[in-house]
Amino acid sequence: MRQTSKTGKPPPRYGADMLVRLLWDPLPASWPATARKRPAGLRGLIGWARATAASVPQGDDVERRVLRGAMQAIVRDAFQQTVAEQDSEHRGPDAFAEAWKARLAAFLAQETVDLSGWGVITVAELDVDLGWSLYAAASSARADAIARAVATPSQRRAADDDPTASYAFSIVTDEEGPLGRVRYATCEHCGVGLLRKISFSPEWHCCGFGTLALRELELRHPGLTWYTTGQYEHARGFYDRFRHRSNSPWIEKHPCPHF
Ligand SMILES: [Zn+2]
Repeated sequence: MRQTSKTGKPPPRYGADMLVRLLWDPLPASWPATARKRPAGLRGLIGWARATAASVPQGDDVERRVLRGAMQAIVRDAFQQTVAEQDSEHRGPDAFAEAWKARLAAFLAQETVDLSGWGVITVAELDVDLGWSLYAAASSARADAIARAVATPSQRRAADDDPTASYAFSIVTDEEGPLGRVRYATCEHCGVGLLRKISFSPEWHCCGFGTLALRELELRHPGLTWYTTGQYEHARGFYDRFRHRSNSPWIEKHPCPHF
């Protein structure tokens, strides 16, 4: 699997690449007016954005560039505020897209928007169509990533003492960086599996990846009884829902002394 981490930089947020491209990186001078002119699919879209951003025409004056950046900042801020609500709202992908859209609409209905790092932006000066195109592209990129997310094969980690073994796998979409990471251990002697940690950036909460991860654990190591540790108390509702479909108790204290 491709590593997206670059040396000297802080570790990347899981799966940020595709959204960063659209919401954080400098925009190309012109956004295709219709979806028909835009390359299909997430990879095509990102490749296109990368190529056009690298060739900003010389006549592209500073003011227009700043206004594009401001519009992008508003779409991004609406996204980040929606992400920040996930701890309380737990929105699934469709509800998230709607909430993000509603927040963007509310911004654009104002005369001015006061964004940190930008100051007061007058909405009438902005290219609102660009904002909506950007929202549509980023929103479908997110939906696309969620729909096509898969788990990588489990990789054995440290050299454990028998009878335990530690593993990790990632949730990924195509060649993008991992959306999340799952660490677990098994004890063949006791027939026990222990989920150590599921890590997803807030951008990818409530996307079904937790359920995907737990299903994979049970599929890959059939016959084990699965547990997880007390640090997941805040996610208890999630495990309680999952255990109804599972033979494992999850979240109860595990009986294996070997970990
Ligand atoms: Zn054991």
